[in-house]
Amino acid sequence: DWVEFTEFFSNIIDRFEMSKEQNVSFKRAYSKKSRFMEIDEDKITQVLYNIISNALKYSPEGGTITYRLRERADMLEISISDQGIGIPKENVDKIFDRFYRVEKARSRRMGGTGLGLAIAKEMIKAHGGDIWAKSEEGKGTTIYFTLPLGKEQEDDWE
Ligand code: ATP
Ligand code: MG
Repeated sequence: DWVEFTEFFSNIIDRFEMSKEQNVSFKRAYSKKSRFMEIDEDKITQVLYNIISNALKYSPEGGTITYRLRERADMLEISISDQGIGIPKENVDKIFDRFYRVEKARSRRMGGTGLGLAIAKEMIKAHGGDIWAKSEEGKGTTIYFTLPLGKEQEDDWE
């Protein structure tokens, strides 16, 4: 379905902001202009839930989660950054593998199955996008993903 992504994204962030129990602030670092795209709303909602839940789970007390949207040619790049524990360099690409969890002890304490990001990757790939992470231990993690922008973005009125 065709979706105005900026509002769709903002609504999901609002829901998390209202229900979160952690002392973590949210920063929306994107312009409020319309961005139309054809997506499966349920699936992309699930992707965002996974990523934002992880960001909250691994955020420190008083941390900030930053949400960004950036147009890159015909794609929209969505990114979610936290200031949490981060992921060791050699493991960053493995977090998208099924059942992979960094450090079993720390993960057991945190709960979860290790499937969230593997499912997210499948859904993003099915939409013609890509997903990756950048992380620095002790500093934080950013998850990026891209989705194709609608072709009629620039309305050509005749
Ligand atoms: P599930 O999502 O199924 O409940 P999960 O959160 O452990 O379980 P994924 O979402 O796939 O699984 O994440 C895989 C692993 O990547 C996590 O167990 C964690 O070790 C690491 N990880 C993911 N996001 C972050 C993050 N924002 N900061 C630090 N580590 C992360
Ligand atoms: Mg998860």
